[in-house]
Amino acid sequence: MKILVINTGSSSLKYQLIDMKNEAVLAKGLCDRIGIDNSFIKHTKIGSDTIVIDGDLTSHRSAIKKVIEVLTDKNTGVIDDMSEISAVGHRIVHGGERFHDSVIIDEDVMQAIKDCIDLAPLHNPPNITGIEACRHIMPDTPMVAVFDTAFHQSIPQYAYVYAIPYEMYEKYGVRKYGFHGTSHKYVAQRAAAMLGRPIEELKIITCHLGNGASICAVQYGKSVETSMGFTPLDGLAMGTRSGTIDPAVVKYLMETKKMSLKEIDEYLNKKSGVLGISGVSSDFRDLETAVDEGNERAKLALAIFCYRVKKYIGKYAAVMNGADAVVFTAGIGENNPLVRDLSTKDMEFFGIGIDPEKNKVRGIEMDISTPEAKVRTLVIPTNEELAIARETLKLTAK
Ligand code: AMP
Repeated sequence: MKILVINTGSSSLKYQLIDMKNEAVLAKGLCDRIGIDNSFIKHTKIGSDTIVIDGDLTSHRSAIKKVIEVLTDKNTGVIDDMSEISAVGHRIVHGGERFHDSVIIDEDVMQAIKDCIDLAPLHNPPNITGIEACRHIMPDTPMVAVFDTAFHQSIPQYAYVYAIPYEMYEKYGVRKYGFHGTSHKYVAQRAAAMLGRPIEELKIITCHLGNGASICAVQYGKSVETSMGFTPLDGLAMGTRSGTIDPAVVKYLMETKKMSLKEIDEYLNKKSGVLGISGVSSDFRDLETAVDEGNERAKLALAIFCYRVKKYIGKYAAVMNGADAVVFTAGIGENNPLVRDLSTKDMEFFGIGIDPEKNKVRGIEMDISTPEAKVRTLVIPTNEELAIARETLKLTAK
């Protein structure tokens, strides 16, 4: 069974074709600048060089058509015919309170995803466009929606309701939703496999540290708390996002700096985080170079980032009455020994201990703990596309 995984943005579309027989990626790529001039597809047939094809990608529909052409082409392709694609899995950012799990897409599901547009005005519309384009090109192929929010629907009400008048939740759905759910769930399952114990027995703190970053408390296989909130702005300091700040700062910026809400939104989402503190970059590779060169603000940005990670690890240990493992994943979590070291420093009281040699690892699964550490610290590369493909297989193979 071959499954196509689609992740649609406003002007981009990422794809992977996975053979579920052995979970091998056959081909993957990115359609970029859709609906803008100079659009192109960057395509990789696994085992061959990546190629860039100029494409007249006027819409997501023409992008999907082109993806199918490249996948079935004699030279660039990996299948003979579109009918070899058994199902399509779509990454959907927001499923609101309706979706606790992945679902087969039908008209009712489409409407429910549209009903969540208010909650994710930048993300759900392109996700919907992606589904519509695929349904048009492949009308007989089953489609599955996999939501970033679904895994966090098990968070208890006392953790997801904000301490503001209750009608904000009841009437308008203002509450913590959480994101990166597919990744947190995937690495928690891998952690259980690495520890050789059933996930139903384990308390795991998963740290998804990428340009967007969030932490999740996974108790007995279910998310019970996470650091992102109503939007992905909450929680950790990130590449360009502020994470948690006192909400009164917004009023202060409006009154004293005469900033509009739109400007503040841009300020907190695009100009803050380690970029805003360091003035250097949102990318941790640049940040580390600046730290090595003695840049004090880069050092401060790194310290703030890691201090927050450490605080959340402590909070979630309190939430779950302990932890069996802490997992580091995503671009920074998988590749940055310094961040892993600073984020877990001086936590011996809690049973964490990292072996400096093992901590040099990048991009592969590894237990980096000292032999005596009671809480295992694990590096686990995330694989959201494979997780989406597995969900799609589970629902469509029935
Ligand atoms: P993500 O959003 O998961 O792609 O993560 C992006 C972040 O991960 C950036 O800050 C990068 O600096 C960092 N990152 C990604 N790959 C590497 C790598 N191979 N070595 C060091 N840092 C990396």
